[in-house]
Amino acid sequence: MPESFSVNQLKTWSKCQKKFEFDYVRKLAWPSNPQNFRLGKGVHQLLDYASKGMDLSPILQDADRDIATAWEMLQQSSWAKLPTIASEWGFSLEVQGYWIYGRIDRIVQRDETIHILDWKTGTGIPRCPEADWQTLIYQYAVYEAQRDLQISIDPAQLVFTYVQLKGGAVQEVHIPFSHPIHEKTRQRLLQTITAITSDEAYTLPATCPDKFCPYRKICGIESKEKAIDTQTGMILENMAQEAFDPLEVF
Ligand code: SF4
Repeated sequence: MPESFSVNQLKTWSKCQKKFEFDYVRKLAWPSNPQNFRLGKGVHQLLDYASKGMDLSPILQDADRDIATAWEMLQQSSWAKLPTIASEWGFSLEVQGYWIYGRIDRIVQRDETIHILDWKTGTGIPRCPEADWQTLIYQYAVYEAQRDLQISIDPAQLVFTYVQLKGGAVQEVHIPFSHPIHEKTRQRLLQTITAITSDEAYTLPATCPDKFCPYRKICGIESKEKAIDTQTGMILENMAQEAFDPLEVF
């Protein structure tokens, strides 16, 4: 059992405990294709170097065209021009003797508000970003680490901003923060860590939440879904028979 948890680990646990077991407890190694991360990794690196005032012209000369174009578009957005408090900011949060860690793309200041920026070039913005672990933990971490970041804010002055490159345009989604969200995140973290560290069952969800998961053939979801289908079929058949019971007709 890990003694520290990344945001991805918490996301995996919330989606499927069985996948969490395979990935992080049994540590099944599953090769990933580096091509899937090439664009995002390249753009993030360029944005980080630019925030540190580096001369990027030699790098851009050799950069892949799609990386250079995506970087140029994000670099031209108003978000890349705001005063930077931190870029590629790594953090570790202590919760109930365990550590939660992550890395934030950029923290910027716009007027009286602090924005946590997350650049999205490949993967999309989560469907429900206000409930996503990434949003909640990053906000929680920045609020808790004000002294390290040399800022002093109320929760209402903190916003998580997804900046997404999609269809040749820059789109934004803003998620506000508040005292109640801070408290709820703390509670949810405590509950989740307690569940992860005490629950050894690693139960399967009712249906698979991840069509790209490599464990489909070994996790048992196929027989579970089949059993649910059969059960649903039997219930529907019984309902149909009850609805047209010939004894009731006569
Ligand atoms: S295939 Fe689906 S149900 Fe099975 S481990 Fe992966 S995510 Fe979980």
